[in-house]
Amino acid sequence: MNRIVDLVWHRLAGLMPGELRQAEFGWLGAPYQHPLLLARRRATLIVNRVRLFAYLFAVLTPLWSIVDFLIFPVVLWLDLALMRFAACVAFASLLMEYKPNGNTLHAYRAIAFLFAIPTVFDIASHFLIASHQLADTPAAIVGGYAFLPFVLLAGLSIFPLTLLENLIIACPILILQFVSGYVRWPTLDWASFAGAFWLLLIITGMSALAGMSQLAFMLALVRQALRDPLTGTFSRNSGEEVIELQFSVTRRSGKPLAIAFIDLDHFKSVNDRFGHEAGDHVLIATTETISRNLRRGDVLARWGGEEFVLIMPNTDIKEAESALVRLRHIGFGMRPDNTPVTASIGIAERIDMHAQDWKTLVDKADQRMYRAKQGGRDRIVCTDGPETASQPASSVASH
Ligand code: GH3
Ligand code: MG
Ligand code: MG
Repeated sequence: MNRIVDLVWHRLAGLMPGELRQAEFGWLGAPYQHPLLLARRRATLIVNRVRLFAYLFAVLTPLWSIVDFLIFPVVLWLDLALMRFAACVAFASLLMEYKPNGNTLHAYRAIAFLFAIPTVFDIASHFLIASHQLADTPAAIVGGYAFLPFVLLAGLSIFPLTLLENLIIACPILILQFVSGYVRWPTLDWASFAGAFWLLLIITGMSALAGMSQLAFMLALVRQALRDPLTGTFSRNSGEEVIELQFSVTRRSGKPLAIAFIDLDHFKSVNDRFGHEAGDHVLIATTETISRNLRRGDVLARWGGEEFVLIMPNTDIKEAESALVRLRHIGFGMRPDNTPVTASIGIAERIDMHAQDWKTLVDKADQRMYRAKQGGRDRIVCTDGPETASQPASSVASH
């Protein structure tokens, strides 16, 4: 079974060169496992799209009154114009209410609002037009009002949604369409209803595919934007974003947030003795070792050349220290001459140091790292007092 999945995956990946990694493939199905920064960017994009379309509809819906005026009797036109005005106000208030804030639930509500307005308008106008006996009006024009479910389902394709989200949004629209056919059962033109319903299903499928391929494209772009190209860890910018976010999350929940500043010792000598490329390989191997041994929820960011910041949410200073002690025992990899890579590490924790903002927290970890350097390198400093716990565990290579 696994071999078949692998085979299908490799064929598929071959058709999308460089776009998706295997782990990311599942993210197209459902939104549960999305990394925080991806979820935030996606939510922002969705709300921006909602706003774009709310703006377009706010302008176009009342404009369509001109067409109504040419087709319908004045009484009906007036009623429709009032409804169009109400829809316009609703679209405009959607535009005012929903500003992007990176929250996924907020983005869902924006989509629901955007879809609810034309749905209500569609149903209301159906009843209104049906209440007028329009013998001499071309049926095709009146029928134009029945296109909305198609427009809504096709409209789904503008959002970078997962398969599950697409289905959850499409289902009520499909059910509503089905019920509207059921209500008209005695007079229903069976064949054309079935044909239209089939078409709706096809549009739903196409929209879901379009949305998922947008999401796939977005995943690749976000990954490139967030990751450091050499080591594949988070870049400094995205690391700062994670810290800022976790700082406010942990402050609200009252949980600790630990930051470790890790600076590799005497790294310049690796370059000087073995060349820059060898230095690059050491950096890659070191980050792989650290990443492999991170706990769930920890995030590693490359802060600069051979400096890294490890972000540990819900971790107090003692737990952070023992995590780093463990990491030091595992080691940071080897230099080309087979001596161990060592690092000077400074740890700071939000509650422990009563930090008011995330920058002071990072600065404190940086200062303590600097003290670790001054104290002889290859050690951890996690207090401002005299050093006690962290004596060198591995021998420092001589340079
Ligand atoms: P210390 O123990 O005081 O930290 O000494 P150090 O040599 O590690 O520190 P210093 O800041 O003097 O030098 C950092 C070196 O890291 C300088 C640079 O050659 C190297 N470096 C920074 N970025 C990269 C990189 O992307 N690839 C390689 N190969 N080397 C890098
Ligand atoms: Mg260094
Ligand atoms: Mg440095």
